[in-house]
Amino acid sequence: MGTDTLMNLHTHTKFSDGDFTAEQIVITAAEHHLTHIGITDHLMTDKCRSLFAGDLGNYIDVLRELGRRHRHIDVLAGVEIDTRPDHCDLENLPIDELNRLDYVLFEFVQTREGTSLENLEPLLNDISVPCGLAHNDLERNFGPWSPEAVADYLSSFDIFVEVNTAWPYKRDGLMFWERAERYYQAFSGKVLVSVGTDVHHSLAEVYNLDRAYRFLRRVGLMDDLVVR
Ligand SMILES: [Zn+2]
Repeated sequence: MGTDTLMNLHTHTKFSDGDFTAEQIVITAAEHHLTHIGITDHLMTDKCRSLFAGDLGNYIDVLRELGRRHRHIDVLAGVEIDTRPDHCDLENLPIDELNRLDYVLFEFVQTREGTSLENLEPLLNDISVPCGLAHNDLERNFGPWSPEAVADYLSSFDIFVEVNTAWPYKRDGLMFWERAERYYQAFSGKVLVSVGTDVHHSLAEVYNLDRAYRFLRRVGLMDDLVVR
């Protein structure tokens, strides 16, 4: 089952606001025995340097070529989409190109500035590849609901949830996913999970996965990983 999987599905490269090439990230991941490395550069957001729609074809080609050259690790092509309407024109995303990717991450979903899952639903229906929530503060964004209700709701959108280890995604000293442990405990058999570190400026961020994997073992989700 998924127990041997060691993934990092959230990394940024020079294609957007990261410091390293995709190949540097892939090589570092392979050296540290990851089984899957996902590149998820920002797409069409005003918040930072970002891929334009016209860049996406070349981006995917480069990542596919890396996948062919590095056969001992699965190189996955993704993007990160900012759901804040004032940062990204969600109405005009290049759907056909998005459907050539392996997956899509969405950030700021269900936050005050971002877009609710309900409003995102038409887009989610147009995108045929797996979609996930990046660094979501589940406890804050879904707080009043019971863990079972949150699991059922997320499951109804067929969306996976990311355990993101990057420093900004904590509140009162705990990572978003640590705060939301009771929600994750209800995910088994319903909601798939990914692990991502949001690499930008340090290659050590490619493989700092231990804390996230200890968490996934504790909450019993090693058979509910989005890749296996
Ligand atoms: Zn990111």
